[in-house]
Amino acid sequence: MIKFFDGVSNAMILLVEKIMIIAPYAVFTLIAATIAEFGFNILQTLLLYSLTVIIGLAVLTFVEYPLLLKLFTKISVKKFFKTQRQVIAVAFSTSSSAATLPVTMDICEKKLGVPNRIASFVLPLGTTINMDGTALYQAVAAVFIAQVYGFDLTLTQQITIVLTAALAAIGTAPVPGIGLIMLIIVLRSIGVPSEGIALIIGVDRLLDMCRTVPNVIADSLACVVIASSENELGELNVD
Ligand code: ASP
Repeated sequence: MIKFFDGVSNAMILLVEKIMIIAPYAVFTLIAATIAEFGFNILQTLLLYSLTVIIGLAVLTFVEYPLLLKLFTKISVKKFFKTQRQVIAVAFSTSSSAATLPVTMDICEKKLGVPNRIASFVLPLGTTINMDGTALYQAVAAVFIAQVYGFDLTLTQQITIVLTAALAAIGTAPVPGIGLIMLIIVLRSIGVPSEGIALIIGVDRLLDMCRTVPNVIADSLACVVIASSENELGELNVD
């Protein structure tokens, strides 16, 4: 059995390696097709779209999270963000909440004083279902694609985007690029062609790096909020 699964695993790694070789060319052709269809102006539009996502993620991280931290814990916002430096660096460079999990666990236990029995339950669960950054990105991307295709979104469709983006983010696996795939669910729910994701695929890696950061900070935040509500938060250990 072990040999069989090792074999399958090696085959998958080989397959991914081969796909990665053609990925840059594939992305190039996708972008070329998009430009051919919509003209060069689409590049400027893509820049505005990327900025909207990044500003949204910044508001989430630097306004909403500090508010929640102040509301539910006694930890200072500055100290909390100081403990998150390593988590942010790993999340940004790997674009994967799952790859960042060991670092998040370590920081929550050693620096934020969360007991292991809380961190080992909240963090793995949060890593898979708690993806605020991804939900925000999917909502912006859905509106952007709908606008490019000339859809005039009704209020019901906008509410549908909010609900399906929240659900799609819960279903998104904590690895690079899956938020983009799950976006198809959001687009289908409002009747926008799912081929629309080709429009944004070229800038997705950068946005993936950015959205993974609030995804992992939210996990640490949930962890300290739970520990503090259980009166189990230990000493803060910030250098
Ligand atoms: N890369 C994200 C994460 O791991 C998921 C995604 O939005 O694609 O948190």
